[in-house]
Amino acid sequence: MALHTNATFQTFLKLAFAGLLGASVVAGDVAAQQKQPSPGSAKAIFGSVSLPNQGVAQPYGFYAKGCMSGAVALPVDGPTWQTMRLSRNRRWGNPAMISLLERLSRDAAKYDGWPGLLVGDISQPRGGPMFNGHASHQIGLDADIWLTPMPAHPLSIEERETLPFTTMLQKNAFLTINPNVWTESRARLLMRAASYPQVERIFVNPAIKKKMCDTWTGDRTNLGKLRPIYGHDSHFHIRIKCPPGAASCKPQAPVPADDGCGKPLAWWFTKEPWAPPKPPKPGVKPVKPREVMVSDLPNACASVLAAPSVDSIQAATFGGAAAAPAVAPMAVMPAGASDDALPDIGPVPDDKPSGE
Ligand SMILES: [Zn+2]
Repeated sequence: MALHTNATFQTFLKLAFAGLLGASVVAGDVAAQQKQPSPGSAKAIFGSVSLPNQGVAQPYGFYAKGCMSGAVALPVDGPTWQTMRLSRNRRWGNPAMISLLERLSRDAAKYDGWPGLLVGDISQPRGGPMFNGHASHQIGLDADIWLTPMPAHPLSIEERETLPFTTMLQKNAFLTINPNVWTESRARLLMRAASYPQVERIFVNPAIKKKMCDTWTGDRTNLGKLRPIYGHDSHFHIRIKCPPGAASCKPQAPVPADDGCGKPLAWWFTKEPWAPPKPPKPGVKPVKPREVMVSDLPNACASVLAAPSVDSIQAATFGGAAAAPAVAPMAVMPAGASDDALPDIGPVPDDKPSGE
C-alpha cells in the first residue's frame, strides 16, 4: 500500500507507538502533569472517603457519572485471585460485580488453564469520579483484570504496588500482538469472561480484538462483547449490566449483535483514531472542561456521601469478616508508586469518538 512509504504514515506510526507501546513513559508523563483535584470537586471528595456507607447496595447514575451505595470489597486474596495496588483502595464494588469476579477466577482456573486473576481497580468505597486512571468505574460495575496470570506465591504488599505490567503488543510494530507473550489461555480467559450473561462489555486493545477475530475457533456468540479501545493492552476491563431492579442505574446501549470484527474494528487500523487533535483556530480560546462537582452527579450521591460509614473494611468484605484479614494491608501510598500505570482509556486524542 502506497501509504506506507510516505512521511505522514511514518509520523502516524510513531504516534501510535508512543501511544500504545510506550505506556509507562506516557503514564509517567501524565502523572507528572496531573494537578491535585480542586477541594470541593467530586474527585477530591469521593477520593478522600475510605469506607463505604451503610445501606443497600445500589448503583446511582452511569458508569462514567455516578456513585454507589452499600459497596462490598473483594477480599485481598482468594484461592484463585490476588488484588493489586492495594494503596489505591479501589477493590470496592456492587456485590454483583464482586461475585462475578470470584466466579470468573474459579472458572478460569478450572477450565481455561489460567491459575488465577490479578485484579486491578474496581471502584472507590462510594464510587464516584476518580482522581486518576479512569473515566468510568464510578458505580461499582466495572473492573480491571491483568492479562498476567496470578503467580503461585502470594505477592507481598510491595510487589502488588510495583509488579510491572506486561503489554501483549509487539514493540516497533503497529497494533500487533506479540506472539511470544500471547497465549491461548488469555483468549480463553477473555471468552470465559464474555460468556456470562450479566457481562455486557469487555474492553480490550484493538490488536487483541483483531487477534480474537482472526483466531478464535470456538463459539463466537459472545465475541461481539469484546470492544476495541485505546490502551487495554496489559489488562482488560469487564463491565456488567445494571443489576436487575436497580432503577437508579442508567444502562448503556447493548452491543451490536454481530461479532464486531468488521468495519468498526478496521477503523482502529486507520490513521484517524491516532491523529493528533486539531489545533484551535486562531483567536479562539480553547474551552477548558469544568471540573465535575458532586452536584453534577445524581442527587442520591450527596446522600451517599453523607451517610454513616460501615464499621470497618472487614465488615464490608464480600463473604464476611472471615474472608478479610484482621489488619488493613496498607494505608499509605509508597513514594514512587505509579498511579496511572493502568490507564483506562490510554492516551486519547481529543475530539475523537471512542466508540464507548
Ligand atoms: Zn477499567
